Amino acid sequence: MRWDLGRSSGVQDRRGMGAGAIAGGGGIVTVVVALIGYFVFGIDPRTFLETAPTQQVAGSGAVQASACPEGDTACQFADVIHTSTIDTWTPLFQARNQTYRPSQIALYTGGTQTGCGMGQSAMGPFYCPADDTIYIDLNFINTLEKDLGAGGDFAMAYVIAHEAGHHVQNVLGISEKVQAAQQRLSEREGNVLSVRLELQADCYAGVWAKQSNTKLNWLEAGDVEEGLRAAAAVGDDTLQKRGQGMVVPDSFTHGSSADRMKWFRTGYDTGNPSACDTFG
Ligand SMILES: [Zn+2]
Repeated sequence: MRWDLGRSSGVQDRRGMGAGAIAGGGGIVTVVVALIGYFVFGIDPRTFLETAPTQQVAGSGAVQASACPEGDTACQFADVIHTSTIDTWTPLFQARNQTYRPSQIALYTGGTQTGCGMGQSAMGPFYCPADDTIYIDLNFINTLEKDLGAGGDFAMAYVIAHEAGHHVQNVLGISEKVQAAQQRLSEREGNVLSVRLELQADCYAGVWAKQSNTKLNWLEAGDVEEGLRAAAAVGDDTLQKRGQGMVVPDSFTHGSSADRMKWFRTGYDTGNPSACDTFG
């Protein structure tokens, strides 16, 4: 991927800042969530909110976006990919007479305060709807490559674009609707909706891949396959196989590897968010 062709707009750089209150709070629930989230990646924001409903940020998490340090390619990469999601979704919203509220991206190591409670890198990358921010510990690149067998720059780009897809759902009010519906449904039925939300975020990642490539022509041979491999690697069935002996509750379901690849493909082949109706 010729990601150097993209532009940057800055990141919230919280790396090395420590987790502060992490030792005092959280407790066993957070630890369990962190462990499970690690295996499932891209934790369901609903579950995340439920585990830490009272934790408030109180300004502690507010870090201004700034340019990445010189020569810090991992940071620059995350910045460029995130910025390209904004540059992709803004005109797509405009075309529908809607306004896209840009997301933010925060880089951290270990743990950090978020609008959704304490974020921990063991959860994998996640999106917090309360502060419109994608949280990512860049060490996840190693997890993808070494533990999940999905290396390559585009695999990581897919991960960021998937989280940006959750932001799109938030701006469109889809996540809110799903959350409201889940209150009325059984856990099992609610989980079906969670899967559809995840698959739609995969489809939106595909839309981003297509649209950004039309504009920048930055994809290279094998990139889409890298994205598909990443989508497969983070499917529930694959992860459950890898995590034998670990309990992976239904509430963390993200969909099977085949479904995730299928919806990423749908988004990529059409480049059209309307094709991403995973609820229909
Ligand atoms: Zn997700």
